[in-house]
Amino acid sequence: MNLSIGLIPCLPTDDHRVPMTPEGVTKLIKAGWQVLVPTGAGAAASFPDSAYAAAGAKILTAKEVTKTNITVGLAVNLTPTIPYAAAELVIGLGNGPVANAKQVLALQKLPRTTRAQAMDVLSSQANLGGYAAALAVAHHLPRLMPALSTAAGSTKPSKVLVLGVGVAGLQAIATARRLGAAVSAFDIRPEVAEQIKSLGAKVVEVDGPSAEGKGGYAGALDAAGIQALQEKLLPFVAAADGVITTAQVPGKAAPQLVSAAAVAAMAPGSVIIDMAAASGGNVVGTKAGEVIQTTNGITLVGETNWPSTLAQTASRFWAQNMVNLLAVLVKDGVLSLEDELVKAMVP
Ligand code: NAD
Repeated sequence: MNLSIGLIPCLPTDDHRVPMTPEGVTKLIKAGWQVLVPTGAGAAASFPDSAYAAAGAKILTAKEVTKTNITVGLAVNLTPTIPYAAAELVIGLGNGPVANAKQVLALQKLPRTTRAQAMDVLSSQANLGGYAAALAVAHHLPRLMPALSTAAGSTKPSKVLVLGVGVAGLQAIATARRLGAAVSAFDIRPEVAEQIKSLGAKVVEVDGPSAEGKGGYAGALDAAGIQALQEKLLPFVAAADGVITTAQVPGKAAPQLVSAAAVAAMAPGSVIIDMAAASGGNVVGTKAGEVIQTTNGITLVGETNWPSTLAQTASRFWAQNMVNLLAVLVKDGVLSLEDELVKAMVP
């Protein structure tokens, strides 16, 4: 097999993840790939060049990268320019045009089926995002998460409310529970109630609008539906010490579930982590990429890339997703785009 993989060099970006790790390189080389790693590619995720070299990768300088042809280029985020001389295929998240690539595979278009799960970066990364968001509640909250009895007094568990219970929401519930919080959760898809309960959290039941979408996803609500839901959720938000919102509707702006009135009704010191900040936000008042203090003392966190805050683990999961995907991409030693999962990722 004469196939080469090149990691797309880090262009100026805040994303600390790298799409292939030294451990992944070992697996790829075993499978017959040659792996090219631009110098410093994994540094921000705590993978030094020496570890890639020890795994058998060839380390390239920036100048060498611009002169090299590769079969497959791996990126975390597809960017407008790729400085390799040419690539047959570039794989990453996003829709941007990729210079010098004959074909692009957009990872967010991978079908959410059981077979695809091992290749699904949306799931592997959202899972870590949910964990990071629960830790962020604990970090920003000026109160304890667990119940504690000491000679200096005792505390009750903090109340954490999770809105949107997909992959990120489930991990946020599990992590907040492990930190000792009393957790409750709501999703517009009623079928997640059993999963919420199995994690030891309470299901928030509201007699509100429903929104069924395609392929197991929720659909979008109209303005009246959003307002009705905001009103139903207000007392649950007001009673929470920490709120983690993860609600998304594919291809649409995120639903605004938490109104300004609900934020104003929270106790001073309370915290909201809006995980949908990058796609419009679930919370009135959050700003993408910013941490804001409201006048009534609530911390609104609009961080947009939680998985990058766990860059080493996030990269390990991403790399394993890519190892699994590349196994599907090669048939009898040549690159093949015939698999149905691969076809679905062509933008
Ligand atoms: P997502 O990030 O698109 O959305 C997060 C959550 O927000 C979802 O649970 C959604 O129902 C919820 N939501 C949307 N609008 C809402 C509203 N108005 N109010 C409250 N909640 C709202 O979701 P995801 O985590 O990517 O998962 C999407 C679906 O895909 C889920 O059904 C999940 O179980 C499924 N999935 C399946 C597989 C598989 O292999 N079978 C893998 C991953 C995900």
